[in-house]
Amino acid sequence: MDQVVRGLLRAKKAVAFTGAGISAESGIPTFRGEGGVWDKYPPSRFGNLLGLSWEWLVNPGRVKDFIKDVLEAFLQAQPNPAHLALGRLEALRILKSVITQNIDNLHEKGGCHKVIKIHGSLDRARCSRCGALRLMGDQGLREIVQNLEMRKGRRVGFLKWLGYLLGECESCGGRMRPDIVFFYEALPMDAWSQAMAEAQSCDLMLVIGTSGIVYPAAQIPFLAKRAGAEIVEINQDVSPLSRIATYRIEGPAGETMGKLFSLLESKNFREWG
Ligand code: NAD
Repeated sequence: MDQVVRGLLRAKKAVAFTGAGISAESGIPTFRGEGGVWDKYPPSRFGNLLGLSWEWLVNPGRVKDFIKDVLEAFLQAQPNPAHLALGRLEALRILKSVITQNIDNLHEKGGCHKVIKIHGSLDRARCSRCGALRLMGDQGLREIVQNLEMRKGRRVGFLKWLGYLLGECESCGGRMRPDIVFFYEALPMDAWSQAMAEAQSCDLMLVIGTSGIVYPAAQIPFLAKRAGAEIVEINQDVSPLSRIATYRIEGPAGETMGKLFSLLESKNFREWG
């Protein structure tokens, strides 16, 4: 911890790369591991649009349950000490950006302003025709949960039904879809380019709560390492990224980042206060 704090105070540009594990203590289950979302909803059926379209034909109620479970978990979640610590590191100008694989908005709620979301954001809808984005926010997500049982679209395909649920595009009248990256889909190019640029120009990267097995996202810490950055992994388990870590802190993200930030604050005051 001490060495990591020194590294953070020394860093000219620290960047964080986060995964589902950082939001686990906020009540959003991770995708892998016991009690994860995929235990209940297998990714082959629920993690991609083709699987969801098929499931919709045979069991629409189960698709609605999946959407409801996910949205309710996201709506109830509040930022935990790890999100808040990153927000305060940004305020101290130590942390320059957060690259996240998460589709929740807990980094923003935790006080981070430069958040690069390489897998999209659950509270945004995107037009399938013109690409226009619409921010739905928590209120929009609550309305979706309320409208899941709407009568319209009972006998249409999944994508059309999603379009009814999300409303038309205000710019071109096209069909809206969630602005998230499902399995087998490409990453948003602008976010991905920004993420690569941040990784290649930082001198310290905090890698928090990611299994490091989802590609191409998992390349990010390797790019930072190759560019000479120190890698600090915070995870309650080992991962394929552990072998490139300069420092590893094994433990829950919230508790660990909370302690790390208190230590940094006390040192910051002592050394520069
Ligand atoms: P993952 O589910 O593959 O792995 C989670 C990682 O977090 C594991 O390495 C696990 O050891 C670690 N972990 C679990 N609880 C932790 C805790 N309390 N503290 C520290 N570490 C903890 O997650 P991933 O690597 O992010 O990849 C999964 C994909 O699923 C991502 O692309 C992401 O988009 C998506 N996802 C997002 C959310 C979210 O937005 N909160 C939730 C689930 C999945």
